[in-house]
Amino acid sequence: MTKLTYPDYSNLCGWNALLPSRSPRPALQEDTTVDLAVVGAGFTGLAIARRFSELDPDARVAVIEATTVGEGSSARNSGFTGADVLPRNASIEMAEKARVQSAFFKEAFDWLMQIVRENGIECDLQQVGSIRGAATELGEASLRNVLEVARVNGIAHTTLSREDIHRRIGSSYYRFGIHMQDTWLLQPAALIRGLLDALPAPIEVFENTHVSRMRKGDGWILETPGGIVKAKKVALATNGFIRKFGYLKSRMATIYTYAAVTEEIAESRIHELGESATWGLLPSHRLGTTLRRIGRNRLMVRSLYAHEAELDERDAIGNLRDRFERRWAGLKDVQFEYLWAGTTAFTMNGAPWWGKLDKDLYASGGCNGSGITKGTMLGRHLAELMLDIGDHTQMATSMGTASWIAPEPFRSIGFRVVSALESRKAGREM
Ligand SMILES: Cc1cc2nc3c(=O)[nH]c(=O)nc-3n(C[C@H](O)[C@H](O)[C@H](O)COP(=O)(O)OP(=O)(O)OC[C@H]3O[C@@H](n4cnc5c(N)ncnc54)[C@H](O)[C@@H]3O)c2cc1C
Repeated sequence: MTKLTYPDYSNLCGWNALLPSRSPRPALQEDTTVDLAVVGAGFTGLAIARRFSELDPDARVAVIEATTVGEGSSARNSGFTGADVLPRNASIEMAEKARVQSAFFKEAFDWLMQIVRENGIECDLQQVGSIRGAATELGEASLRNVLEVARVNGIAHTTLSREDIHRRIGSSYYRFGIHMQDTWLLQPAALIRGLLDALPAPIEVFENTHVSRMRKGDGWILETPGGIVKAKKVALATNGFIRKFGYLKSRMATIYTYAAVTEEIAESRIHELGESATWGLLPSHRLGTTLRRIGRNRLMVRSLYAHEAELDERDAIGNLRDRFERRWAGLKDVQFEYLWAGTTAFTMNGAPWWGKLDKDLYASGGCNGSGITKGTMLGRHLAELMLDIGDHTQMATSMGTASWIAPEPFRSIGFRVVSALESRKAGREM
């Protein structure tokens, strides 16, 4: 059996299912020749294609997507974004670095918002902020460090008591929190679908077309089931799956994480979802659980991590239900309507990998669970690098570069050991 070079999920993306259905762009059915082939139609890939085309409008650009837009990780995420960089375990030493990064994120975020506005992309975008919540003493201590960095960097925030959080989200599970005002919440499938539709016309997009092999020819030759793509330049925007082409194998790992959305909750019980009409909560520990209220009457729970493959579905459901019921014991009878996995790319030091891999071959990946603004920013810079425009040294230095990760079997063993230790530390944050 040939190994898959792309993620093939066992469940459809709930965010996509909540939207009206769409007709995918046709798959590639014959050989084609382009100036730039972008592999992957997530936030990174679409930013690369758009920016490249903006700077070189005569270039023939093709985006090749294994699945359909709305079914990749860019649609499967929790929809938190913004320009402020505030790492989960922030320390004062990291504050300066975060400030420099934020300037680059802001530029990309403003660009993204401009595309959204100018193209009328309806993706439930709301600047309602986000709650960083701590359920444990350790979690609260970690959030108090974050608070210090927010103060130093002038990031607008307020602190929340257990009662404040209870009032907002209808659960008294959290003992302490910080409300970060500049976070935006959005419907990720609607955003990525809108960004695809908003691409300048000369860019061709092939969905349901996976690149199975790549080799050097005159430029690069990409093999897909429907034909060959000959490209002068290639950008790999497949996040953790860049490794499937033999690159960055010792720089990143693919992690699957899960989300579930409840059925619609009856009007008579709406008060149990809190006073805030829209809210999102991020955990204080990296293995913790993310929560959102979606629309008027649904809740979303995102949690669990698995290395390189999906979990058994019953385990995933059982664990997500446990997280849900611990927070809203009164809603135990409410069922999940959607459950799905998505991939993120983990790197040892939390830095992405960005730049040139080989002659006329570029890549950007290693999102570490946050990619709406970051993928857009890195993709935009990558297009400029490919066209030799601008100086990207400060951006690349501030982001750092993914460090070495041990090969298998040490990697899997390491993942299991670290997960067990961190899970113990995370405790009720999960
Ligand atoms: C459950 C979950 C919650 C998250 N929450 C957030 C959040 O709230 N905020 C945030 O900013 N980030 C979040 N993330 C992370 C975010 O989704 C990623 O950082 C983002 O999707 C990365 O974008 P990308 O374009 O680099 O990669 P992807 O979105 O993974 O896009 C890569 C694309 O490449 C395609 N592909 C792969 N291999 C091939 C191939 N061989 N041929 C053709 N196509 C291929 C894939 O199908 C995919 O569509 C979350 C992720 C998950 C899974």
